[in-house]
Amino acid sequence: ITALYGPVNSLSIAIGTSVVITSRSKRLFDILDSKETVADNPGAVAPASLGGAIRFDHVDFGYGQPGQHQPTLHNITLTVPTGQTIAIVGPTGAGKSSLISLLSRFYDPWRGKITIDGRDLRDLPLHYLRENIALVLQDPFLFPMTVAENIAFGNPQATPEEVRAAAQAAQAHDFIMRLPQGYDTLIVETGASLSGGEKQRIALARAFLKQAPILILDEPTSALDALTEAKIFAALSRLAAGKTVFIITHRLSTIKHADLIVTLQDGAVVESGTHQSLLSTGKTYAQMYNHQQIA
Ligand code: ADP
Repeated sequence: ITALYGPVNSLSIAIGTSVVITSRSKRLFDILDSKETVADNPGAVAPASLGGAIRFDHVDFGYGQPGQHQPTLHNITLTVPTGQTIAIVGPTGAGKSSLISLLSRFYDPWRGKITIDGRDLRDLPLHYLRENIALVLQDPFLFPMTVAENIAFGNPQATPEEVRAAAQAAQAHDFIMRLPQGYDTLIVETGASLSGGEKQRIALARAFLKQAPILILDEPTSALDALTEAKIFAALSRLAAGKTVFIITHRLSTIKHADLIVTLQDGAVVESGTHQSLLSTGKTYAQMYNHQQIA
């Protein structure tokens, strides 16, 4: 629980009512604070290191209890070798965010399993799993700390130079320098004074700095203009070398070079392949892509 965002419980107590959090963040706080949803298998043990080969093996998942609720994801099977980038695309409600929330173990599958380097996620200590994942959500939340501390979160040993380099890669450095105290500016009210795009870039800098073999990005640039987005993706392709990356995006032009693109529809994988192979089949992905080219 503490690995992704630190001691959320004690933080919420420490900051009391001075923090205004958005409804989406609130939901995440609730999830992070709920210890009931997932439990490690007895004997879960941390390996010496984690590569990042990920496999979804016939995964069914739904919110609530099987039998009482409809499944959200059906029979998902995916293989992502270490160091590859996989893009998940598909219409709103298709199950993209649900799929990646399983990878961080906010929930466990109803059926089937997810493995990293062949190990079932439930056989890894939860804190260890989350230490090895850098996660950027569409509406990230920031802590009532300085900008630099927010970026270094999860990597407290980082030097100021490393913090600055991560911010530069995330196209955040220039706007940070325009804040009243630059990197030492205190973020109040979880970033109410920052725009959505500024918050996204601080969260990206944090993920770039975190030395994690697995990077998960859920619409990480949705609030940014196309040029800034392109610069961030250029940095990403450099910084993500050797890392396994899951990315959800609506802007298909950004994921043309992904090793694997998976189209989800109604909770099921309807097609997967490279950009070129999916274009040539002329199905859902090709239609979405061509539509965006015209738009
Ligand atoms: P996408 O990311 O592709 O837009 P989601 O994974 O967010 O899709 O949602 C898939 C389905 O799961 C939707 O029907 C959505 O309403 C439902 N869903 C998402 N989160 C929750 C939740 N916390 N509780 C119940 N249902 C949820």
